Amino acid sequence: MAAKHNYQLFDITLARRTQVSASLVRFTFTGPDVGHMATYAPDQRIKLFFPKGGGSLDPLFEIAKLEEHDWYGAYRALPDAQRPSARSYTIRALRAEKAEVDVEFVLHGDNGPASHWAMRARPGDRLAMTAPNASVEGIKLGYEWKPPQNVRRILIIADETALPAAAGILETLDDLPLKPRVEALFEVPRSDDVQPLAQAAKLHWLARDAEHGCQHGDLLMRALRDIDLHREIQALGGTPANATTSTTTSATTNNESDDEDGPLWEPATLDDSAPFYAWIAAETKVAMKLRRYLVNECGLPKQYVTSMGYWRQGKANG
Ligand SMILES: Cc1cc2nc3c(=O)[nH]c(=O)nc-3n(C[C@H](O)[C@H](O)[C@H](O)COP(=O)(O)OP(=O)(O)OC[C@H]3O[C@@H](n4cnc5c(N)ncnc54)[C@H](O)[C@@H]3O)c2cc1C
Repeated sequence: MAAKHNYQLFDITLARRTQVSASLVRFTFTGPDVGHMATYAPDQRIKLFFPKGGGSLDPLFEIAKLEEHDWYGAYRALPDAQRPSARSYTIRALRAEKAEVDVEFVLHGDNGPASHWAMRARPGDRLAMTAPNASVEGIKLGYEWKPPQNVRRILIIADETALPAAAGILETLDDLPLKPRVEALFEVPRSDDVQPLAQAAKLHWLARDAEHGCQHGDLLMRALRDIDLHREIQALGGTPANATTSTTTSATTNNESDDEDGPLWEPATLDDSAPFYAWIAAETKVAMKLRRYLVNECGLPKQYVTSMGYWRQGKANG
């Protein structure tokens, strides 16, 4: 018997669009199998598929009809010209009982298939999505928000693409047993991208349009430098640059030097006793710089930091 796959393809239809802020739109999708969809954490990642060059999503809808399928194998087997473009997104909310799932898109222009679709989408439009299948037991995959149970201090750092995940994270903070001190830095394109969010954290909204000539990520870095982390991290036993970490059994250098042009996907590796946790998701080079600052300059053990490049300036994410 074929092994069941954690992620499966869903045939989804746009039910409604809601303008969340100037640059962010929430799409609520429904579909025959959305009642069987699962989400395990607020940064649950999914893929959405967009037709290429006037092509169609029909081959994916055919695969979605099969009760058990290896979506990735079937997708890769499609001829290049017919293979739809895939982009990563986040489940903002799932209401399986109503067969509804929300995904929020940044409208960044007409230059990519996802944003192009989002600018024009109307109720009734169909897409294909891969997401976890609730009926598959076993390892729960596809998310990185894994706060240690005894954490006392959390930093959440996001640009607009990671705001849907970060907004969901804020809604879960009350579940943490020791009520950690949480600070969240959110950089957004415009002042009217500020939205009301759960209040369990000290929020810093950083709007690029408020600062002339400001580059993507500049405000995040400035706001991070404004927090007096050196003292806090020293109190945890961290030391700047080439620090020897105290959280692993083997002594490892703490210095970070990522490949500038490579992807960035560095999940934290810590256990429930870790006192500090940083979750960073943003444009890749921005996320790299923020990570390096925390690890190399502030001496935060790298095991405490999850950092993810959600997109890359000037490069399609396909
Ligand atoms: C795990 C994960 C979860 C994500 N969740 C979300 C989410 O919930 N909502 C969301 O909006 N995005 C999210 N993203 C980011 C999204 O996948 C990228 O922004 C993606 O590039 C958009 O695809 P596109 O087809 O619009 O543009 P692409 O074809 O990938 O890129 C075309 C051009 O647009 C530029 N570009 C891409 N994104 C942006 C942007 N945001 N601002 C300015 N320029 C951009 C690229 O640099 C490139 O030059 C997530 C990414 C990951 C890895």
